[in-house]
Amino acid sequence: MPTDTITTQLAQLKQQIALYNHQYYVLDQPTVPDAEYDRLMRELISIEEQHPSLKSVDSPSQKVGGKALKAFSQVTHQLPMLSLDNVFSEQEWQAFVKRVEDKLAASAAVSYCAEPKLDGLAVSLRYEDGLLVQAATRGDGTSGENITENIRTIKSIPLRLIGENYPEVIEVRGEVFMPKASFDALNERAIKKGEKTFANPRNAAAGSLRQLDSKITAQRNLAFYAYGLGFVSTDGIERWLEDSHFARLQQLKTIGLPICPEIKQLDNHSQCQAFYEDILNRRDELSYEIDGTVIKVNDIAYQEKLGFVARAPRWATAYKFPAQEEITVLEEVEFQVGRTGAITPVARLKPVFVGGVTVSNATLHNQDEIERLGIQVGDTVIIRRAGDVIPQIVSVVLDRRPESAKMIEFPKECPVCQSEVVRNEGEAVLRCTGGLFCGAQRKEAIKHFASRKAFDIDGLGDKLVEQMVDENLIQTPTDLFSLTEIQISTLDRMGKKSALNLLESLMKAKQTTLARFIYSLGIREVGEATASNLANYYLTLETILSANIESLQKVPDVGEIVAKNIVQFFSVQHNVEVIQGLVASGIHWPDIAVKSEDEQPLLDQIFVLTGTLSQMGRSDAKAKLQSLGAKVSGSVSAKTHYLVAGEKAGSKLTKAQDLGVEVLTEDDLVALFTKHDV
Ligand code: NAD
Repeated sequence: MPTDTITTQLAQLKQQIALYNHQYYVLDQPTVPDAEYDRLMRELISIEEQHPSLKSVDSPSQKVGGKALKAFSQVTHQLPMLSLDNVFSEQEWQAFVKRVEDKLAASAAVSYCAEPKLDGLAVSLRYEDGLLVQAATRGDGTSGENITENIRTIKSIPLRLIGENYPEVIEVRGEVFMPKASFDALNERAIKKGEKTFANPRNAAAGSLRQLDSKITAQRNLAFYAYGLGFVSTDGIERWLEDSHFARLQQLKTIGLPICPEIKQLDNHSQCQAFYEDILNRRDELSYEIDGTVIKVNDIAYQEKLGFVARAPRWATAYKFPAQEEITVLEEVEFQVGRTGAITPVARLKPVFVGGVTVSNATLHNQDEIERLGIQVGDTVIIRRAGDVIPQIVSVVLDRRPESAKMIEFPKECPVCQSEVVRNEGEAVLRCTGGLFCGAQRKEAIKHFASRKAFDIDGLGDKLVEQMVDENLIQTPTDLFSLTEIQISTLDRMGKKSALNLLESLMKAKQTTLARFIYSLGIREVGEATASNLANYYLTLETILSANIESLQKVPDVGEIVAKNIVQFFSVQHNVEVIQGLVASGIHWPDIAVKSEDEQPLLDQIFVLTGTLSQMGRSDAKAKLQSLGAKVSGSVSAKTHYLVAGEKAGSKLTKAQDLGVEVLTEDDLVALFTKHDV
């Protein structure tokens, strides 16, 4: 490549990396994943190695971190705070070992101290006479931000060292990090409040520590592990420091500093490889985020012999794990209809290797999520796959949006059955309204239809329904009633006898009640009790089918949302056709005797049910009370007429007694039902 092309390429790379450094170190808001950053950095290093004359002191490859924020006062580190070089594969790890061991030319195996690489930010804590007097971030390695007040809020950092055996001045270095649970809770709160979320626990920790108001830091639940030393005064104490890194960490522990329990002293480099693999396997179980291991030559004399390069020690390396975040392109969005009619946007991605597998799909959840991400088709996106968790799109790399990017449009019709699609108030998901007809919802709809509290079709279990649908024998519940003996007996594990039994059950099931019929349709939020109330209120199927939202809300237990669900369901022609088909196949129910007002002996009496009922279900009791005209409420108040107290009744019973509300036992209730013949 001609030199001027390389010079231009190098300048572009440096500029890009400088921008990413600023976003990451100064703003705590990276816009690309670490893997992408690392690739650019390696490209830069490789060009600089091939063309040493082009390497300049201001190159990002020679520098640590970013500039300190002006809002904080500055602290000049007595000894610089460096970064770490890194390796990404076993081969690179072996090359590191070779470099180290060749240089040391040791006669015996070199021992190492192996540690998890905590994903937080480096801080330096200065103790004078055992008291924490100053805390600083790494900054650019030479000077950092004075964050003493914020550090004092971290519970695991001692304000005073334990005992009396420590140097007069000791600078402890370690990582402040945010445990996974605190990170998840913080982001959940941010989503609820419509605020910006943090990309990962590292940025959350950095953002929380670099707050001007230490009260905010205090709420963020940060933690700390020490992993090394900076300046240590030698006055007063004779040879306080041990001569291995591992032993020094143990010393820090004895004076009160927390160290990571996973740290191990290892006899040779093969044990380090095993340590790396073990920690990688257990990565998800740890309560804090790590992005690799850090392996350090253990012997301090050896460390001194190896020394440093510009930005990192030669005696240590970060042996990094495969990336959990990668960058790719959103090529298309497709809409999938779930078993319950929920319509989910699914991102089709340019395949990318992340978290150990190739990912080409990710869920986008719902419209709110798409708006939150501000994502468009054609966008470059950051995708995250941690452990077995399904891949997530974390964010959009806005400065890579192409001109051809397209807004994501939600379908107005169900992509499977073309029924109308609705989004109910208070719900984030879109739903298909063709519940009884839609191919995607078929299996669930028929299973529900055949279930015990619905048509109670003996011998028609879930597995059989699935088989019938898969074999295309049935498409809607109506088709059940035209099945033939031959069709059924060809199915797995079904002989002539079981086929005949099933036909017999189907015959029997045709005789039902209006309440069961309504329940069996699987209208959203219309359970057994509501179905029964609808039947008792309207008495015939025709009146229910034509009821409007206003009228429906007069039915006990039916609020606006349920009323809307009902009207919506019956307004879909496909659903009505299935209902007509069912009636035409001979399904019938007895007329419900019309009760005059004086046949509603409990008219407008307010009942509350509490505790466990042993002779009937709560919903049965409720439906029967309502059929007698009573209202059943969920809470006791001065307006309550009766409290029915089952076993283990608690606070509602006490409240009823306090208010002087009449209390009935379950036996009293049974007697009441017997008296009124329900
Ligand atoms: P680093 O994070 O790769 O390694 C050095 C740091 O590791 C130390 O400063 C310390 O904070 C930490 N560490 C954790 N556990 C440790 C242990 N047991 N012992 C010693 N140190 C330990 O280096 P860095 O210079 O802080 O950052 C460079 C990395 O940051 C890049 O490789 C990249 O992954 C990421 N980065 C990303 C972007 C982006 O835009 N996404 C930008 C800049 C940097």
